[in-house]
Amino acid sequence: MQQQFVLRNLKRVTGEAIDITINNKVIVDITPAGNGRGDASFDFSDVYVSSGWIDLHVHAFPDFDPYGDEIDEIGIKQGVTTIVDAGSCGADRIGDLVSSGEQALTQLFAFLNISHIGLSRVDELSQLEWINEEKVIDAVAKYKSSLVGLKARISQSVVGASGIEPLRIARKLSDETELPLMVHIGSGPPDIREIVPLLSNRDVITHYLNGKKNNLFDQEGNPLQVLLEAISRGVHLDVGHGTASFSFRVAEAAIQHGIALNTISSDIYRGNRMNGPVYSLAHVLSKFLYLGYSLEQVISAVTSNAAEWLRKPELGRIQIGDVANLTLFDIRKEPVTFIDSEGDERSANTIIQPRGVVVNGKLIECQIRS
Ligand SMILES: [Zn+2]
Repeated sequence: MQQQFVLRNLKRVTGEAIDITINNKVIVDITPAGNGRGDASFDFSDVYVSSGWIDLHVHAFPDFDPYGDEIDEIGIKQGVTTIVDAGSCGADRIGDLVSSGEQALTQLFAFLNISHIGLSRVDELSQLEWINEEKVIDAVAKYKSSLVGLKARISQSVVGASGIEPLRIARKLSDETELPLMVHIGSGPPDIREIVPLLSNRDVITHYLNGKKNNLFDQEGNPLQVLLEAISRGVHLDVGHGTASFSFRVAEAAIQHGIALNTISSDIYRGNRMNGPVYSLAHVLSKFLYLGYSLEQVISAVTSNAAEWLRKPELGRIQIGDVANLTLFDIRKEPVTFIDSEGDERSANTIIQPRGVVVNGKLIECQIRS
């Protein structure tokens, strides 16, 4: 590919048609469609562009089963230029995850699991001796540039008899390391009313639309008081669809009560990528279009909102002078049936399909279904 090239006739989510000129990895011009100048050009009439998608909750450490996958399989091949591994690894293996991120085309950040064994077992917080505070502090110091937070999975099958104690320790480690927490919620105990009050500004609740008994909404679909208070404290809400953590019923209740959409993430790994109900981040985004969010809201939830949370605003914008980090995608009208984690189905007629990405100065086409 030539050093300078133009992507022509792209559409922003606002509908504006533009050409983007890239030279030596950097965006050097953004013009109205038809005005871009360069040696080589690629026509993308009717294709949308946004800054590169960010998936804030994935499992990108293939050694672990079931919660693992290959970085680029869930990254650029799906139109996602930045992934954030959500605590697959604790202190024991975080170094291996960071090195494999350096080999991949997809940009990788990670939450460090407070359990040093990470997801080598799925009950990683059931023994308190697996939380070694010194190991956490050392790993944070060593891998600072890759780590964006600490992860604690606070649900019955993970914590067992440890109850709320792992979250108390996580809170203390978060304060000491100045890294926010991402807390996975699910079945209790611990009761959700005990968990949420321990979270502060910039901490993340992932799986906030889960449909399990211990979720954030009451039987009538009203948001719990602890959720409303958390939102007013600045706690961040993340979808983390996953195999078991997204319910249309709960998502519809959230919309009805005006709970703002912060970030949409997939919680993707091999099994739910190949067999559903996740398949890809694009597939999850299409579900939110179905729910009634606008295209702008849906794309912001994987671009600017995620970039702001990461405190890396350059990842959430298209701007002259920045390294090109773009996702190209189609909006296709076709009948589709969506399924949530409860087995509930919804019929829809619009899907978001990734076409390609620009990373590291290269245009790479996607070949994966959405
Ligand atoms: Zn997860």
